Amino acid sequence: MAAVKIPFLDLQAQNGPLREDTLAAIARVCDSQRFIMGPEIDALEDELAALLGIDHAIAVSSGTDAVLLALMALGITAGDEVVTTTYSFFATAGAIVRLGARPVLVDIDPVTFNIDPEHLAASITPRTRAILPVHLFGLSADLDPIMQHADRHGIPVVEDAAQAIGATYKSRPVGAIGTFGCFSFFPSKNLGAFGDAGLLTTSDARLAKRARLLRTHGMEPKYYHHLVGGNFRMDALQAAVLRVKAPRLAGWTRARRENASRYRTLFREAGLDGPVTLPVEPPDRLHIYHQFVIRTADRDGLKRHLDELGIGNEIYYPVPFHRQSCFADLGYAHGSFPHAERAAAESLAIPIYAELSIAQQETVVRAIGGFFENREISDFRFQISD
Ligand SMILES: *Cc1c(COP(=O)(O)O)cnc(C)c1O
Repeated sequence: MAAVKIPFLDLQAQNGPLREDTLAAIARVCDSQRFIMGPEIDALEDELAALLGIDHAIAVSSGTDAVLLALMALGITAGDEVVTTTYSFFATAGAIVRLGARPVLVDIDPVTFNIDPEHLAASITPRTRAILPVHLFGLSADLDPIMQHADRHGIPVVEDAAQAIGATYKSRPVGAIGTFGCFSFFPSKNLGAFGDAGLLTTSDARLAKRARLLRTHGMEPKYYHHLVGGNFRMDALQAAVLRVKAPRLAGWTRARRENASRYRTLFREAGLDGPVTLPVEPPDRLHIYHQFVIRTADRDGLKRHLDELGIGNEIYYPVPFHRQSCFADLGYAHGSFPHAERAAAESLAIPIYAELSIAQQETVVRAIGGFFENREISDFRFQISD
């Protein structure tokens, strides 16, 4: 097979057609000289609250800071425990530790990659102050049992929805079900800014007020401080860019979902649905396919093969939290969370961005097929039908 180049993500394909509109939005901010807070932030917050169907939307500096701010607004502090998944981007656990609290880690459901609600229930102690599920790769965690366990113990739920803007659980938007929702506009997320930006959502007016106060050093009015917060503000420039892009999100989500469905057909037609496990979409949830993550036993071999052909791919994530060196003092042994460890060894994300063409998808699947054909000769572990 000739070397082809298919990028893992093509931001130019998304942002290029919006160049005139985004430059006009940036010019508007330059002309106003309102770089911090102001009308762009107010307008973005109103527009995103409406788009997401959530009462309060608070524009912040990043997805990481959205998680940190949610935990700060809930008063999480040293000695507290926060129950979360061991399999996510680092920011989820990092925010807990930065407040001096202890992340109590939980294994994943091996089918969805999301936190296992029953293991979660068994991890709640009298010191648990919050539950922090992640909607990994754009698929909602199983929120009903999570909310039931939380409500029974009177513990708030902070949804890390950084990868799941627009995803739903039983027709409700994620980020609107727990006490707080946290979103990221990192450029490679489904709705990406031109730099760092994030959003915190809540339906609780009192907590929204507290989070807004903490976003600007607990200050109200100027130079009178009620709480020790931080600088967690989103730039007006990022808000202006996001206001151009947000109305397009639904279309991009539709395109990602179509790509996912086309991959399913292509993998099946190529007889690859045996050696490769495709992501699942439970019927009660709308998956927004931030990532399309496949699994296979020889993941590293497949990765090398795709790298050689110039086909973009990424490992999310090679090391679960409990195996990260910075969390060694949490004391989790190798093998503590077998499903997450297995996912870390087997999962590989392939291109899924909205602008990916049918021909590109066919090339990706053909390349993956080539890997298993070559193997069939030397290794009979894989049976390829037809
Ligand atoms: C991206 C991400 C974050 C952090 O968002 P940033 O905007 O990069 O700070 C947090 N949690 C998860 C699950 C993420 O994927």
